[in-house]
Amino acid sequence: MGEVRRPFFLPGGGAPLPNHEEFPSRLFDLAGQDHPIMSAPSTTAATSITCGNCSAATGGAHFCPACGKIQPLPPGTDYFAFFGLQRKLALDLPELERRFHSLSWRLHPDNFMRASELERQLSLDRSSQLNDAYRTLRDPVARVEYMLGLAGMRKEGQKKQQAPPELLEEVFELNESLDRLREARESGENAAETAGLRGKLEAAQQKFESSLADADQELTQVSAQWDRALDSGTDDATKKKLMERMNSILNRRSYIRNLVESTQKVLAGT
Ligand SMILES: [Zn+2]
Repeated sequence: MGEVRRPFFLPGGGAPLPNHEEFPSRLFDLAGQDHPIMSAPSTTAATSITCGNCSAATGGAHFCPACGKIQPLPPGTDYFAFFGLQRKLALDLPELERRFHSLSWRLHPDNFMRASELERQLSLDRSSQLNDAYRTLRDPVARVEYMLGLAGMRKEGQKKQQAPPELLEEVFELNESLDRLREARESGENAAETAGLRGKLEAAQQKFESSLADADQELTQVSAQWDRALDSGTDDATKKKLMERMNSILNRRSYIRNLVESTQKVLAGT
């Protein structure tokens, strides 16, 4: 199968270039746009962008390659495009960090002391977007969540508080232990019983933590499948299935993380 090269910039087809006033609020507002992952992206908007200062083609870069002035970004620029990275789930983290530091340095307010009001504003907005983009992309779970959100495929579980089947028993026991712990406290702190319940909670906690590690591992595996699917130009139906799988892992993961956190809280109070 032929390699499909996806462009870094994935604006909604034919979208107008942003004017300076609405630029900051529109940058990551993807509502109403095509989902670039599911449809063929277009690069026309990015390649036809020219610098407002010297009219050179900017290719959608942060700074004009000819005069160095800061530029508005094309509409629909996502966090991956922000760093000039391909929309892959396995990111080169040292490279991401290098680009983050380089952009932080170039966007520093000291560099804009004698710049126009518009350029100063662009640099301030861009700096805060830079931090959001970096925080999101450096975390592999947040990265998947973000990618699914871009594709309109991130859906919280409808039955939000439903336990994953493999943890039903533990969740049931956890609730029972919590009830009994409460009773033991109310009836004057039976030390032996409290210690026994504490042991049970610790065992449950271990089980939850190992389920969380399993979910993370599964997410890593499906993320790698996703990247391979992109490389080989897999059909949309297969991609959709992979995204649904990632979405359901994220839901399970968030349920388990809540269990870990609430058990930790109870254990800290005993
Ligand atoms: Zn220029």
